[in-house]
Amino acid sequence: MVSAKELKTYAKITWCPGCGNFGIYTALRRGLAELNLEPESVVLVSGIGCHAKMVDYVNTNSFYVIHGRVLPVASAIKLANHELTVIGHAGDGDAYGIGIGHLSHACRRNIDIVYIVHNNMVYGLTTGQTAPTSQQGYVSKTSPFGELALPINPIAQGLASDASMVARGFAGDPKHLTELIKECIRHKGFALLDVLQPCVTFNRINTYRFYRERVYKLEDENHDYTDKMKAFQKAYEWGDRIPIGVFYKVERPTYHEGLPQISKVPLSRQRIEDVDISDLIRSFT
Ligand code: SF4
Repeated sequence: MVSAKELKTYAKITWCPGCGNFGIYTALRRGLAELNLEPESVVLVSGIGCHAKMVDYVNTNSFYVIHGRVLPVASAIKLANHELTVIGHAGDGDAYGIGIGHLSHACRRNIDIVYIVHNNMVYGLTTGQTAPTSQQGYVSKTSPFGELALPINPIAQGLASDASMVARGFAGDPKHLTELIKECIRHKGFALLDVLQPCVTFNRINTYRFYRERVYKLEDENHDYTDKMKAFQKAYEWGDRIPIGVFYKVERPTYHEGLPQISKVPLSRQRIEDVDISDLIRSFT
């Protein structure tokens, strides 16, 4: 068994002091340790942004991909070896900007992975530009007169794309977030976990205080997470009260379970030496 402490690497952490990424980092390591997952059975995949340093700081297998492409790579890893626990990390720009097309397809296919989106509502790594989840009116160097567009609603996106699990956590409550991460890992199917992650350097609106005054837990109000219409209603609750917890969760067959080629043995453990592909090669000549 590996402890949360042992899941730290020797890499020097370069996030700004107080960054919400620390809460996610703590919750992730605790969750992996409490589920007794061996580091070699876990793969973290990250995109580009402040969140992406996670793969340097957690002592598991990891894959650093190009901007917006976390889900194609994480999906491929899962299909190559479905015995692995695959966790994708993306920023809100990564996941809901350049990578948003991949989200719908991973949801509808029900790829059995966890997708943790570090949602700080700003492009932090590139010094604070307006992001797809920035609130309307948000002022930055790319929207000096205030953002005109409505923000992406990640929870509604996940629900509309038929994700089998959709949840939201808060980086300022690592204990609750640990439980959510564990529930997402245990879930059989695609789990979207959007995390409210304060960027203390560039986002002066969506701060720890902003969230602490507003967040409440869905489980405290007996939310029925099997009811999709109720989940949609909760997805649009944003103002004086902001819900966190599991919005929606149902069981349905995962993508790899529908592939007869890998139903018994993962692709990565299949012998390929004896497979005759000469007919296939000939078909291209
Ligand atoms: Fe965190 Fe923002 Fe600093 Fe990036 S810029 S490390 S998101 S506080």
